[in-house]
Amino acid sequence: MNIVSLSGGVGGARFVRGLRAHLDVTDPGARITVVGNTGDDITLWGLRVCPDLDTLLYTLGGVGNDEDGWGRAGESYRVQAELAAYGVPPDWFGLGDLDVSTHIARSLWLGQGLSLSQVTARLAARWGLTAAGVTLLPMTDVPVETHVVLEEDGQERAVHFQEWWVRMRAEVRARRFVVAGLDRATAAPGVLESIRSADVILLPPSNPVVSIGVILGVPGVRDALRETAAPIVGVSPLIGGRPVRGRADACLTAIGIPSTATAVAGLYEDFLDAWLVDPSDADTTARGTVRVWDRPLLMRTVDEAATLAGAALDLARAHRP
Ligand code: GDP
Ligand code: CA
Repeated sequence: MNIVSLSGGVGGARFVRGLRAHLDVTDPGARITVVGNTGDDITLWGLRVCPDLDTLLYTLGGVGNDEDGWGRAGESYRVQAELAAYGVPPDWFGLGDLDVSTHIARSLWLGQGLSLSQVTARLAARWGLTAAGVTLLPMTDVPVETHVVLEEDGQERAVHFQEWWVRMRAEVRARRFVVAGLDRATAAPGVLESIRSADVILLPPSNPVVSIGVILGVPGVRDALRETAAPIVGVSPLIGGRPVRGRADACLTAIGIPSTATAVAGLYEDFLDAWLVDPSDADTTARGTVRVWDRPLLMRTVDEAATLAGAALDLARAHRP
C-alpha cells in the first residue's frame, strides 16, 4: 500500500509518526510518502533553514524534542549565544547547536548544486526514514517564502512568516498571506506522481492555511488531488473549535474563515472524501459527499497518534466503493 501525506511541522510529524507505528503492526510493507511544506523556509546566518522538513526528520528519526514539538532533544544553544555576543541576530528564532549542523550540511549541499529534494533525501537517510519506508519530499525545489501582510498605522507592511509566527507570536493581526515564488514554482520530483499513484491520501491535522494551504498552492498539486482515484481523508487541526497548539485560528481569521472543523473541511471540499473531527466537534457537517466521523483527535503519545492514523485508514477503506 502506498500512502501519501501532505504535512507541515508539528501536527503533521506527530500524525505521520503515529501512522508509521500503526502500519508497523498492521502492514509493515506499506510505504509512506510525505510531501512537506517549504513555505516556512528562511535563511538565517547565511544558512537555509527548513523548519517543517526538519521537524519531520527529527520526529520521524526519533531525535526530536517532543515537548516543544520542534528541534532536537537534548539541545544546547552555545553557537547562538556566541553569535548574540557578536551582535548577530536573530535572538527570537531558536537555532540549537545540533540543529545548526543540519542547516550547515543542507546549505553546503545546496551550494554544491544539489536540489532541495536531493539534500532532503540525504538527511532522511541519516535519520532512518528511508529504511523505515518513509520518503520525505519537499513540495518544491524552488525557494518559496510565506510572507504575512500586516497593517500598522494604516500602512501595509510584509514580514517573513517566521517573524510574525515566532517573534510576534501571531498576535499582530494578519491581513493576508503572500507566498513569494509559489505561482512560478513546480512540484518537486515525485510529488505529483505519488499523488496520482497513491492508494490512500491523508491530510494530517496540519495548519490549513500556512502548511496544507501552501502545499495546495504548488501548481499541479490541487489538480492531482482532484483527479486521483485514491480516497482522501483529512484530520481536523481544531478540537472544540480551537487549535491544539499554535495560532491556526489567527491564520484562518486572516483569510476570512471561521475557526470551526466544518469551515476547515470547506477549504478542501473540491477533493476531500472524508473528514475526521473530535467528539467535541461532533456537530460538524461537511458539504456534498464528504463523510464525517468523530474520533478522539488529541495526539499526546505515539499510541494515540497511531490509533488516530488507524481511524483515518479505516475511514479511507469505508470510502472505497
Ligand atoms: P507547524 O508547521 O509546526 O505549525 O505544524 P503543522 O502545520 O503540521 O501543524 C499545526 C497544527 O497541528 C495546529 O493547527 C494544531 O492545532 C495541530 N495539532 C497539533 N497537535 C495536534 C493534535 O494532537 N491533534 C490535532 N487534531 N491537531 C493537532
Ligand atoms: Ca510550519
